[in-house]
Amino acid sequence: KPIQIAIDGPAAAGKSTIAKIVAEKLGYVYIDTGAMYRAITLKALTEKINLASNEEAGKLLQKTEIDLQPSEDGQLVFLDKKDVTEAIRSQHVTKAVSQMAAHELVRLRMVELQQQLAEGRGVVMDGRDIGTHVLPSAALKVFMSASVEERARRRFEENKNRDILTPLEELQAEIAMRDKMDSERKVAPLRKAEDAIFLDTTNLTIDQAAGEILKLAEE
Ligand code: C5P
Repeated sequence: KPIQIAIDGPAAAGKSTIAKIVAEKLGYVYIDTGAMYRAITLKALTEKINLASNEEAGKLLQKTEIDLQPSEDGQLVFLDKKDVTEAIRSQHVTKAVSQMAAHELVRLRMVELQQQLAEGRGVVMDGRDIGTHVLPSAALKVFMSASVEERARRRFEENKNRDILTPLEELQAEIAMRDKMDSERKVAPLRKAEDAIFLDTTNLTIDQAAGEILKLAEE
């Protein structure tokens, strides 16, 4: 019987790479919730709304359509029917996303969409509040982390393949800042759910980490 798997943790801990593998092996849908926060942030930047305003963000969402579609290498992201899968990964969006994600009106809408996407099917969902808020009754919850140095190094390697050349020190500072904002916000802060299993991936390969989760899923 298909189950729901929640994978949470700080930025660049390997969640999406590993969640994708787990989903593929189990024949489940992979849902990257960070992509939804990134999509609304891209729109907020384009429309130049005040990123500090919960109300403006709420209004913007009312006239915004965010759609996720499973694809061969994970997930495609559509913003008002336009494919923004690549555009939401820019450093510009990355730097602004935690501010948008802190707004209550933004989170309310996203959680609603995420719960609809997960309803009644096998999913592997990755984010920051999946185990604590979005899927509190998920059968398996994993909280994945790694040292900030290792996370910055991995993001640096990943960026190279996409021709993004942000220096390592800058990446590490950005990751640390995002973790701080995500853990200190008032609404649904980044937390390990009490019943989540902690997985430190600092010294694990991608396949080892995915293997650990698959083993847990089969229990
Ligand atoms: O996972 P990713 O790094 O793409 O997420 C981007 C940002 O979106 C996070 O830093 C966080 O601010 C926000 N986010 C969130 N809750 C989630 C997923 C992402 O607040 N469930």
